Amino acid sequence: MSGNISFYKQTDYSIQDLQAIIDDIFKEYKLIDNLDGKKVLLKVNLLMGKSPDEAITTNPDFVIAVARTIKKYGGQPYLADSPGGPFNKTALKFAYSKSGYIEPAEAGEYELNYNTEYYIVESPEGYRAKSFKICSFVQEADLIINLPKLKTHGLTLYTGAIKNMFGLVPGITKAEYHLKLQKINDFCHMLLDLHEAITPDLTIMDGIQGMEGDGPSSGITRQFNTVIASRSAIDLDIVVSYLLRKDKYKKDPLPAAISERGIPVDFDKKIIPDWVKEYFNDVKTPKVDKTSNLIDRRIPEPISKFIEQFIRPKPVILDNCIACGICAENCPAEVIIIKEKAEIDLSGCIRCFCCQELCPHNAVEIKYPLLGKILF
Ligand code: SF4
Ligand code: SF4
Repeated sequence: MSGNISFYKQTDYSIQDLQAIIDDIFKEYKLIDNLDGKKVLLKVNLLMGKSPDEAITTNPDFVIAVARTIKKYGGQPYLADSPGGPFNKTALKFAYSKSGYIEPAEAGEYELNYNTEYYIVESPEGYRAKSFKICSFVQEADLIINLPKLKTHGLTLYTGAIKNMFGLVPGITKAEYHLKLQKINDFCHMLLDLHEAITPDLTIMDGIQGMEGDGPSSGITRQFNTVIASRSAIDLDIVVSYLLRKDKYKKDPLPAAISERGIPVDFDKKIIPDWVKEYFNDVKTPKVDKTSNLIDRRIPEPISKFIEQFIRPKPVILDNCIACGICAENCPAEVIIIKEKAEIDLSGCIRCFCCQELCPHNAVEIKYPLLGKILF
């Protein structure tokens, strides 16, 4: 880890307090002289349209504070993301509205993106992806400020700075990557390839109210009371991974992939103030699916398919499913059918957990078979 990282204590979404913090961050990272006349993309986490108090999306007051600070130094902020599901103007408007982004836009705080085209970005040096379909709103940006929400995640354990950039891939195109890169390690390398292809200029994490447990959408909201900033999304994710997982963090999917690229994941823990460590005591994180790589690498497919039903975690549809069909629309393997409620053909399920991530009703649970728990 080579870059700088900053922590700010903040227990609520007071725009005034946050503006003071963001101003400090812009000064520390020398952004204030580079903003005049620039279009600045605010890459929020808009996983789906959800009320801000559910802590699934970047809080709108947090975004307002960043937007006001950009404007103070002459920049023009615009907010954009590609949520799960179809990427069109109707879906975007719905997601913006539910997440509290429309009112500030109408009050002139920032512009909202409605461009749903995409372009191709080559990544010839990529480990797992040599090119990406990327939303065209990225091309308009002179600068990108990454505004992730601090949350746990069923597949990658934690969704932070690097994972937030996956929202630059349009709508259900994201499913193609899940389908092609079924091992968690491959998926994390793809995320790092994407980060190399399009690197944010600054990351400011909304870690005030985040999520623990079954994140990124079905977990429990938790006060972390921390705003975290860095020029390096990788450094920020290494530090937050440590805060969430303590000594286990180096073996977790994203830090492990970072390390495989020759980037050190060790760092001096003294850079983290004690008050931050206290707010991150005993965080509940999802289990790592350690069976994924083992099965895929060492055992022929017919046998692995048979064994995995006894050891691999699997998505289970709960009784509160309302058969809305969102999980089926986003299932990369197309193994969900909608009857009275959603039904999954587990024989074709690739365990990407997109269904759990995108179900707006928390009606998908990840179950861990007893044998898998004992063995792994
Ligand atoms: S599981 Fe969730 S997303 Fe899927 S149909 Fe049921 S309520 Fe909708
Ligand atoms: S059923 Fe769920 S976990 Fe399985 S492939 Fe479909 S979206 Fe992924």
